[in-house]
Amino acid sequence: MFSYRHAFHAGNHADVLKHATLIGILQHLVQKDAALTVIDTHAGAGLYRLDGDYATKSGESLEGIARVRAFFAAEGAPAPAPLLADYLALVAEFNKSSGATVYPGSPFVAERLLRGHDRLKLFELHPTDARALAGNIAQLDAGRRIAVLSEDGFEGLKKFIPPPQRRALVLCDPSYEMKSDYAAVATMAADSLKRFATGTYAVWYPIIGRAEAHDLPRRLKTLANQARKPWLHATLTVKGGKAPTPTALPGVDHKRPGLPASGMFVINPPHTLRALLSEALPQMKTALEQDSRAAFTLENGG
Ligand code: SAM
Repeated sequence: MFSYRHAFHAGNHADVLKHATLIGILQHLVQKDAALTVIDTHAGAGLYRLDGDYATKSGESLEGIARVRAFFAAEGAPAPAPLLADYLALVAEFNKSSGATVYPGSPFVAERLLRGHDRLKLFELHPTDARALAGNIAQLDAGRRIAVLSEDGFEGLKKFIPPPQRRALVLCDPSYEMKSDYAAVATMAADSLKRFATGTYAVWYPIIGRAEAHDLPRRLKTLANQARKPWLHATLTVKGGKAPTPTALPGVDHKRPGLPASGMFVINPPHTLRALLSEALPQMKTALEQDSRAAFTLENGG
């Protein structure tokens, strides 16, 4: 079984990019009355304690959400771009009584934005996280609105697209623990575009020194271009490839250098997303940069 647990990484810089982008996509998609289906192929546990053992050992949220919060709370800080303001406000909703100790994963980010007639399908294969997710979702008393499926999200997705109302967002956010995940993502995108060409597909991926990771955005670009679909590609780098985290954080295991960068590739993005990200990405870079290699990119096509 897999060893990846998102609890180690919740609220890190990659989650900031991923969840802010998810908010920007959903805000637009819920403008139309017709029901929307959101399919999260790799959902995780849904809610995370930032003061729990996993999160404090990795210290990743201190280099993610905590930095963003501190950046905008500092004297003389700029006003957050709308996407970051909405992201911070959404996280704050989970921390009304307890400071910033709870972090919402993608299922809860999506749930906050969806309406009563929308549907949320959550796939999670790890038995422990699937149980945690089911327990967290049960608190919402969501009835048929939300389904938790302890199944392979790459395969299970197929039964939900196209959805009856032909409006859907697919978030594909694997752990890439297995090299085969990169190919599985490209196959998922190719197959899904054949089944449901007008769906919105948002893929998160790590930017690391591995050929498959470099190839994935190129493959997605080629697929989108061949299908004549628009795409948007955002990347955020917080430090040089092998650099250790420069800040000495008490209690944090600094031996592992941690992820330096990640990207979001969106096929059929809402037309509003580019403007939102072009305002938010420079602030994300400034708030999250750990060394002089910090950077962002934003490109689109199709
Ligand atoms: N999307 C979540 C979020 O943003 O809060 C984080 C998901 S985490 C990066 C990836 C998750 O996928 C892990 O919880 C892992 O157990 C799960 N997983 C791995 N392979 C899977 C598969 N084939 N189908 C469904 N879930 C899978």
